[in-house]
Amino acid sequence: MTTSQLQAVAIPADYLKRIRAQGHDDYGTPFEIRTNDPGDQLRCCLTHSTASDRFMLISYAPVAGRATGTLAPYDEVGPVFVHADECPGYAGGGIPRKWFDGKTKILRAYNGVGGIHGGVIVGPSDDVETEAARLLADPEVSFVHARNAEYGCFMMELRRAD
Ligand SMILES: [Zn+2]
Repeated sequence: MTTSQLQAVAIPADYLKRIRAQGHDDYGTPFEIRTNDPGDQLRCCLTHSTASDRFMLISYAPVAGRATGTLAPYDEVGPVFVHADECPGYAGGGIPRKWFDGKTKILRAYNGVGGIHGGVIVGPSDDVETEAARLLADPEVSFVHARNAEYGCFMMELRRAD
């Protein structure tokens, strides 16, 4: 597959709508609202926060959110920032390079039932699209998750474009 066949996917809007309505994340943790805190990575729309954004920290299990609906052995619950209020989501389609360029990231590949099926560390000068395309060329791989290297936080899902 080519890099133009890649798609970046943010945390699903319907999931976030449910979380915002219930007033806490799925693990019972109350929202920690942040304001005037620019530069944080918002996983709802794959943007970086500005000084005027109102966003919050929640715990999220990205594999359960996509593959199985329930926690799988390889799933991990971890912190993500998302807008506190409904936002437009990510409409860009392709990989937002600003999230990767010049930084070390981890790409972790999963099969259709949420099992880990390979992975790679993407260095600051490596091309994330090339590495993601290589992982997704394996027919056993259903999706790839990008995580930041320092904290291990889930960033976004990468898929073959439909
Ligand atoms: Zn957002």
